[in-house]
Amino acid sequence: MTSPLRRPLIAGNWKMNLTLAQSVELAKAVKEGAASASGETAVAVAFTAIPVVAEVLRGSSVRLSGQDCHWEAQGAYTGEVSAEMLKDAGCQMVILGHSERRKLFGESDEQVNRKLGAALKAGLTPIVCVGETLDERETQKTWRVLETQIAGGLKGFAPADLSKIVIAYEPVWAIGTGKTATPAQAQEAHLFLRGQLKKLHGDAFAQGTRILYGGSVTAENVDSLMAQSDVDGALVGGASLKADAFKRIMAFKAP
Ligand code: PEP
Repeated sequence: MTSPLRRPLIAGNWKMNLTLAQSVELAKAVKEGAASASGETAVAVAFTAIPVVAEVLRGSSVRLSGQDCHWEAQGAYTGEVSAEMLKDAGCQMVILGHSERRKLFGESDEQVNRKLGAALKAGLTPIVCVGETLDERETQKTWRVLETQIAGGLKGFAPADLSKIVIAYEPVWAIGTGKTATPAQAQEAHLFLRGQLKKLHGDAFAQGTRILYGGSVTAENVDSLMAQSDVDGALVGGASLKADAFKRIMAFKAP
């Protein structure tokens, strides 16, 4: 049985998109959509848009997230933003280890692990992303990759530290490609990941941790993905930029 701790979460990742005016407009639509949402909702916006979106979302149930953070609280790290700064600007969550950060900016599991420490210290809910590339899937390395990313990313923390952590399974081959994992593929990977969480910190921890699916989630496929017993929500890129599509995703229907 799904744990009541695993309240479904739909998180939109706006990536490096939208002007301030567009961010405000979309945030207003998401706030309006929260009334008919089936679970919790979050939006991960560009650093520059955080204060204006925080203002729009004030008093609503929609959570505000950063898309990344540095592992230090402050200092000589030109161009970086710390978890403390995100918190101060109005965020409650932060995405860590997104595959675009891993692939385009060389982010390692060790760095994800350090960022996780900073996010937890700042009181942010981290969404830690893991997922295999197409080549890794085709050469039967999916399970090894997921195991390594989970073990490396979560290393050194006690289950109590990680009580609010959210994992996002994002097969790299499905991100921004229009190729979604089938509900069965998503379920298989989520079950595997839950097994890894159990191996790390026991069954109660594994059963209480939300695992989101990400990779070309749309208004059309969200219901079948959310119907899977180990899929606790979605991390949505492209479709989160379209108000109507995202509102429908927020209002997913699952048995
Ligand atoms: C993402 O970037 O996290 C993502 C899942 O993107 P998309 O929905 O566009 O595939």
